[in-house]
Amino acid sequence: MQKHTKNQIIIQKIKQIKKNLGNKLIILTHHYQRKEIVEMGDYRGDSFGLSKTAAEDQTARYIVFCGVHFMAESAAILAQPHQIVQIPDIEAGCWMADMADTYLAEKAWEQLTQIVDEKAVMPLVYMNSDARIKAFCGKNGGAVCTSSNTADAFRWAFKQREKIFFFPDQYLGKNTCNQLGIKPDEVIVWKPNEPFGGNTEEDIQRSKVILWDGYCLVHTRFTVDHIRPLRNKYPKASFVVHPECTEEVVKAADAVGSTSFIVKYIDQALPKSLIFVGTEINLIERLNDEYPDKTVLPLHHSLCPNMYKINLENLLYTLENIGKYNIVDVDNVIKQDARKALDRMLSLTE
Ligand code: SF4
Repeated sequence: MQKHTKNQIIIQKIKQIKKNLGNKLIILTHHYQRKEIVEMGDYRGDSFGLSKTAAEDQTARYIVFCGVHFMAESAAILAQPHQIVQIPDIEAGCWMADMADTYLAEKAWEQLTQIVDEKAVMPLVYMNSDARIKAFCGKNGGAVCTSSNTADAFRWAFKQREKIFFFPDQYLGKNTCNQLGIKPDEVIVWKPNEPFGGNTEEDIQRSKVILWDGYCLVHTRFTVDHIRPLRNKYPKASFVVHPECTEEVVKAADAVGSTSFIVKYIDQALPKSLIFVGTEINLIERLNDEYPDKTVLPLHHSLCPNMYKINLENLLYTLENIGKYNIVDVDNVIKQDARKALDRMLSLTE
């Protein structure tokens, strides 16, 4: 059977199941999902928007999360007790989230607090992390943040404590420090496999922000060498990138922001604009289709293979096995502490 016809059959089946389940089901789709998956969703957004939607929806019995595992896990933490969260492929993980192992984070906290009082350090964790790290931050007074509200989270943390320990994305951390005017010599990187993260006692005492040594392989693929020749060739083009890109790339771009910011940036650009974007390729290609009066192109082709694991076949299989297959749940103790950190994030923007 031709792929196109096969997809049409699957799409019809998905639509029929959605119709049968009515408001008992919501399908959440992340911006980096394939076009055909986004079209099957009830809501699309970044991890912040989708986690808010999951927290606010009281009606749906089933939440099917088309994204990566940590996102579905956050939805499961915020969901009501009667709600079931499922992900079409349980193997859809996140390389960056895997870089912050809870055992290593706890070891780092133990070493750090030998040098500074634990009441002087606020742990903050990016949404792109597993539930145990979120719980660790929640237990120690900290919060979760996303790329939409990292600067707000930093300001919130500094009102209460002198230092921030930020997990796991060092580039989002560095770009936020630059945005807030925190000097480079007040920022250190913690390498989890080295004693004291590879820092001296003096470095730690002097620092205001300690960044875990993690990064996103999809966003760190972009380099200044992608931007420079394009700027020379298309002097009227603009460049917008995600804050998980390196500091050099962010500095060379015209604008930086979360996936929702990027969507808004394209939406508000003048007709006939040429915009180069530094983020995941599925979002860029979809935006180019959705805004035919503008040209939206990638800085470089960079695909997240984990996001790409969700497809029409495994979405249909999940819907045909609603409430039974690839359920994402979190241990109750971890859930309680992680929820504290997620609730603090949600209250930052209320
Ligand atoms: S784009 Fe990067 S941070 Fe996002 S899910 Fe993929 S690997 Fe993780």
